[in-house]
Amino acid sequence: MAKPKQKEFRTPRGTHDILPEEQPLWEKIQKEVKETSAFYGFERIDTPHIEQTELFTLGTGETTDIVTKQMYSFRTRGGDQLSLRPEGTPSVMRAYFEHGMWNLPQPVKLYYFGSFFRHEAPQRGRFREFRQWGLELIGEEGAVAEAEVVRVLYTFLDELGLKGVVFEVNSIGCATCRPHYRSALSNYYRSRVKGLCKDCKERFRQNPLRLLDCKEEKCLVIRQGAPQTFDHLCEHCKSHFRVFLEFLDEVGLPYSLNPFLVRGLDYYTRTVFEVFANEEVKTEPVKEEIPIEGDPVANGDDKSGSEGKTTQVPQGGGEVRRLALGGGGRYDNLAELIGGRQIPAAGAAIGIERVILAWKTGRLKLPEPQRPKVFLAQLGDLAKKKSFGLVEILRKANISVAESFGRDSIKSQLKIADKTGVEFALILGQKEALDGTAILREMSSGNQETVPQEKLVETLKKRLKR
Ligand code: AMP
Repeated sequence: MAKPKQKEFRTPRGTHDILPEEQPLWEKIQKEVKETSAFYGFERIDTPHIEQTELFTLGTGETTDIVTKQMYSFRTRGGDQLSLRPEGTPSVMRAYFEHGMWNLPQPVKLYYFGSFFRHEAPQRGRFREFRQWGLELIGEEGAVAEAEVVRVLYTFLDELGLKGVVFEVNSIGCATCRPHYRSALSNYYRSRVKGLCKDCKERFRQNPLRLLDCKEEKCLVIRQGAPQTFDHLCEHCKSHFRVFLEFLDEVGLPYSLNPFLVRGLDYYTRTVFEVFANEEVKTEPVKEEIPIEGDPVANGDDKSGSEGKTTQVPQGGGEVRRLALGGGGRYDNLAELIGGRQIPAAGAAIGIERVILAWKTGRLKLPEPQRPKVFLAQLGDLAKKKSFGLVEILRKANISVAESFGRDSIKSQLKIADKTGVEFALILGQKEALDGTAILREMSSGNQETVPQEKLVETLKKRLKR
């Protein structure tokens, strides 16, 4: 009987492996995340990948795209209704209440780094599992809070060497002035509903502010004449926004005003912002892990109100597009929604896969992976055993060592040593294993010397320093 065809397993759609050769870049980014967060006084928090679904329906908002279309939700065997976390802010706010952090000196400054899950159409830079670094500054009502969050993101991107980073900023007002703006928007759109896309017809009914998020060409045309938030802010919101911009000016941070930026989440109040980088995209076909079906990423996130892609032709051929790296804002309403108390807060999240994309397309120099400087080669059973122990002695002395215990021929082991690019090979044969020595071979010259095993660490340390 014919053998059944073996199933070929692949990563689920919209997810990806991070292979060993990519790890140095991920490690560099995580190191930068850690150092920048710590410098500005943000402490790390890790929350579960699963939460009660209600945390997001209440916190993120029942009518948001995330909740209505993108959450992975399920009922457990025990009957709990849970979701894979689609974003980090509600979880951090939940933890703030659960652990009584309002008793701590305010503001409480927290950061997180990890995977988030959204059932989206995978595209270049858009995944179903992606990683974010997020910052939350809870318990500060002054505009300095969001200015600080923006500053931390900028420092991080600048330290990484990303070029052309720019922030788009806006204020969407508060409970006092937003209703006026909302009704101005409704009045403007009422006579134009027919010309809107299907989703926007629904948005008009549910939350007209979200009409400004749409990227459909016909909706963008209508948006051009829409009322702008600035003209409807109350005095408090106006002065809050002015102070926020003054802080950015103080440190010379590059930003531009985008009156249509609203972001798609219910909990934002007053300040909202997004950050973009220039991404140089080659025009010749590039091998992609996942198919490109259009490219809304370059136009900002689908819930951002960012303008369409800017295209310039760089000298090397190709196209420069704007890549949405992250966003955030003030969210004074979230605490009350999920914790029952009014606590002012601001925060932001950066998409790490996007940062990596910007890094790669910017052709920045990749960090060199740490490679061992010594290779341990052995010949014969006794030498193999002795070498096995020798690895521990070298590890304790902090000398990284590569080996190939599965191979028996010295020639093939030295070939690997050569490929690994080590400076020295240590060779143990039957004779050396018996008399407690090892042959130290300098790979570049081929010079060899015999060294007693108890002197190996000392000798290697001296030689590796040169
Ligand atoms: P958000 O949490 O939606 O405000 O998104 C903040 C940032 O996370 C975005 O600007 C992106 O850089 C990144 N991001 C959001 N959704 C995705 C996704 N599906 N795939 C990759 N990155 C994402």
